[in-house]
Amino acid sequence: MSTVFYKYNPHTLNYERVYPSVKQRVWTVFRQLAIGILIGIILFAVTDHYFDSPMNQQLKKENKLLLTQYQILSKRIDVNEKVMEELQQRDDDLYRVMFNVDPIPSSIRKPGVGGVNRYEHLLTLHNSDLIISTTAKLDMMTKQLYVQSNSYDELTELIKTKEERVKNIPSIMPLAAKQKKGISSGFGMRIHPIYGNARMHTGIDLNADPGTPIYATGNGVVESAGWDSGYGNAVVIDHGFGYKTRYGHCKEMKVRPGQKVIRGQKIATVGSTGAATGPHVHYEVIVRDKYDNPAKYFFMDLDPKEYEQMLLEAENR
Ligand SMILES: [Zn+2]
Repeated sequence: MSTVFYKYNPHTLNYERVYPSVKQRVWTVFRQLAIGILIGIILFAVTDHYFDSPMNQQLKKENKLLLTQYQILSKRIDVNEKVMEELQQRDDDLYRVMFNVDPIPSSIRKPGVGGVNRYEHLLTLHNSDLIISTTAKLDMMTKQLYVQSNSYDELTELIKTKEERVKNIPSIMPLAAKQKKGISSGFGMRIHPIYGNARMHTGIDLNADPGTPIYATGNGVVESAGWDSGYGNAVVIDHGFGYKTRYGHCKEMKVRPGQKVIRGQKIATVGSTGAATGPHVHYEVIVRDKYDNPAKYFFMDLDPKEYEQMLLEAENR
């Protein structure tokens, strides 16, 4: 109900009705609208503050449930992490040892997951600590699984080539047992007989008469056969799978580079070429570019007792 105004007209001596101008009407409507809106806002703010809307209540319930679920997931990842560790352990200590491959370094098994920035977008969340740590754990697990799966692929490949490996990997002495006249020098640090200083003896010296046949100790391809400074006439055989053997101080060489050889094939004869004090074959086993004790590779020639004796003889003490 709007108020009705009257005004006294001295000419007509009457009270006459006064109608509000358009401007006044607009102002009135606007004012009442503004008051209405203001009351609405205040009421909304009050109810919103003191009473949750059903939707809000639902969201809060869901949030709580999600948080609990996150905690459960995080614990389950921890359990899986333990299983993963056992698999890695078994892989390094058993499977990889069986195939004579190095364990996978922990820097590769457990790499960093990158800076904190990686999870920056999660920082704004409530409980961001839990969510970030769970995400990081899962990321780590994914990487570990990838490495582990690669390791199994590698071992599968090794199983497939097992027969070839058995034929190729050096496993006999380069001289016939009856023609060997003892080991004049074993593998390891020693005083060099010619140079007189302490240095690593990278192979084993097997004494024999000049001209005694030297045999390839495993199948492979001749990498080089020729003069090689201190080694004198030397043959190097590449057996694949990371294995090489060298036969030094030869008198004659019976093979050429690129030639395929099989285990037990005569490749050279014993001599004393290069830095040698007497006729012997200097025999080296090189595994992935590292010198290994050749006596460890004589197992096919010897029974366990002889093998043990040989290892003792081959030690430089
Ligand atoms: Zn030697």
